[in-house]
Amino acid sequence: MIDGFSAQLTFLLVESVLCFVLTPFYAISKDPLRARKSVVISLNLTCGTMLLCEYLFYVYNGSTSPFNTVMMYVVNAGVYYLIVLLLLFYAMLVFFRLFGRFDFKPDMPCRKRLIAIIMIVIAGLLLVFISHFTGIYYYFDSNNIYQRGPLFWLAAVIPTIGAVLVVSVIIHHRGKMTLVQRLVLTSYLILPLTGEIIQICFFGSSLMNIFMGLSVLLMFFENVLDKEKEIVKATKTEIRTGLANEHACIEWLNAMKGKEDLKKYSAVFFDLRKFSDINRIYGVENGNRILAQFSTIIQSKIETDEILGRQFGNQFVAIVKDRNLENLLELLNGVEVPFTDAETGLENKVILSARIGVYEIDRADLDGEDILVFAAQALVIAKSKDSDDIVWLTQELLDSIAAKKKLESDIRTGLKNGEFMPFYQPKVNIKTGELCGIEALSRWVHEGETMSPASFIPIMESNDTIRLLDLYILKCVCDDIAEWIRQGLTAHVVSVNFSRRNLADPELAKRIDAVVKASKIPSNLIEIEVTETVDEFSIGILKSFVDDLHKLGYKVSIDDFGSASSSLTLLREISFDTLKIDKGFVDHSKKRDLSILTYIIKLAKEIDTDIVAEGVEQKNQVDVLDNLGVAVIQGYYFDKPLSKEDMTARLRSPQYQR
Ligand code: C2E
Ligand code: CA
Ligand code: CA
Repeated sequence: MIDGFSAQLTFLLVESVLCFVLTPFYAISKDPLRARKSVVISLNLTCGTMLLCEYLFYVYNGSTSPFNTVMMYVVNAGVYYLIVLLLLFYAMLVFFRLFGRFDFKPDMPCRKRLIAIIMIVIAGLLLVFISHFTGIYYYFDSNNIYQRGPLFWLAAVIPTIGAVLVVSVIIHHRGKMTLVQRLVLTSYLILPLTGEIIQICFFGSSLMNIFMGLSVLLMFFENVLDKEKEIVKATKTEIRTGLANEHACIEWLNAMKGKEDLKKYSAVFFDLRKFSDINRIYGVENGNRILAQFSTIIQSKIETDEILGRQFGNQFVAIVKDRNLENLLELLNGVEVPFTDAETGLENKVILSARIGVYEIDRADLDGEDILVFAAQALVIAKSKDSDDIVWLTQELLDSIAAKKKLESDIRTGLKNGEFMPFYQPKVNIKTGELCGIEALSRWVHEGETMSPASFIPIMESNDTIRLLDLYILKCVCDDIAEWIRQGLTAHVVSVNFSRRNLADPELAKRIDAVVKASKIPSNLIEIEVTETVDEFSIGILKSFVDDLHKLGYKVSIDDFGSASSSLTLLREISFDTLKIDKGFVDHSKKRDLSILTYIIKLAKEIDTDIVAEGVEQKNQVDVLDNLGVAVIQGYYFDKPLSKEDMTARLRSPQYQR
């Protein structure tokens, strides 16, 4: 029959062996949380040694041979030292699991408690050392039998205080852990404490250490399981920041689908402001560091039952509980991100802020994908408005998004059904009053109403259907010109607007030519109008587009001249046939505008470019422009944009009264 004592010895030995045997398996495996690996190994080996010491102590206790006596001293001291050391590794494990780090930098969470724990460890080790000379913890009597010293209880109380501190950190940051993780980690306090109490009340045994060993084994298995989860997570993370990827966020949300709890969450889409500036100023390498550091900072505020993911570029998504939303939004309003400069090695910092779209999840039946789409839509709005940093997805917003979607689909159908058509606005020779050119302006006859470009061009530019529209209008124009020629009417140059969005297509000039060739009209009857471009990159693209058109025999005019900031550079680089002066300069009668107008007209003459003044509505404007030497005018003063039928009639009597 096994008595209590031999059962104890068996436990000590079995636990010790388990600690030693299991450790190598962990050591050779991969743990995505790198720091954890060495701590778990240290914890296991220390615990295994401690338990072995305790076991050997019983073997040697009371024996008198010199070797055994030495061993008795050594293993007994070992138990006392290692129990204190275990506290240190335990604290390290908890800090790594909670915060991914263990250091004393000022921003270390719970730093004061951490310092206190270290002090306790140092004090604990010192006291064991002192005990060798004073016997305050234990001594061996004349029969070489172990006896407790007067302060024996302190040897148990000191690590217990340390464990209480560590557990208080766990409780404080409990949101970062699952219930199981919390229970397993706090077992390091609860189990030995229970063992201690039983030990005091019932028999003088090693229950405290046995229970401590049990807790270490529990922690070991929990870490093994968690490691597997981390590996799965690694396949769902984004390499640079280690955050979840979009797919993982959708899965996370889908797992919650149908549960009422989902409604306690908000989806937050955010995008870092001016991150391209950071890349430009500090370089891409530092940009990556800053992004990674930023992710770590935000991640540290995210609890275990929340998720932070990176979409692409500098766009992120967070699914947080409503009660944490406010804090996250405040953080994103301006977060200081320290980083070590990749080139100089110096410490530096930047302040990052975000534009944010928030969707407070109000239905449990939504798919993860839909939830993300809602939040993303709010972000798109936040980005389009410069003033608002945060946009909340409201019913109103949803309605307007739905309306926009409907408009988009109506536009696509309209394109197929031929609901779009050119209207024609004549250009008039100021001296003779004769019609001398035409601009085609698109109109959309939608649900019985004739819509102006302002209601559809921006949408078409945003979804790239503008390409289809511009080429379609060009085709209509060519067909109309061909028809006018057939009717024996004088053929005038018709200018057709091409959005700058089209410039992404390097074959655009060829496509234009193909459309014109198909209608069998000469290319010199078509003029392509493009608006100014701002950045240098697109100036290069615009230049080759214009060159291509010139080679194919088309005229090119620059529209709204003077409205963007790059006008002069543009004129230097590209030779346009016509320069259309922005309406703004014509209808403002300010003296400055007049001076600029005078200057533009003079400039155009110097570089041999024709001028058309747009938006002319009044007689006095005609007079001023005439005096300044502008030859061609376009505006309501002579004609509004006309339907094809009205334009045909106008071509039959192309003379205007001034
Ligand atoms: P835009 O090319 O500068 O065209 C001139 C605009 O000024 C036209 O507006 C025209 O109707 C208007 N306008 C003409 N004379 C006067 C006037 O005396 N007073 C005032 N207040 N306005 C005048 P619309 O037709 O609404 O077109 C607006 C803009 O939409 C155009 O500006 C052009 O940038 C764009 N657009 C029009 N059709 C097309 C197209 O087929 N393709 C592309 N990509 N853009 C187009
Ligand atoms: Ca135009
Ligand atoms: Ca214009």
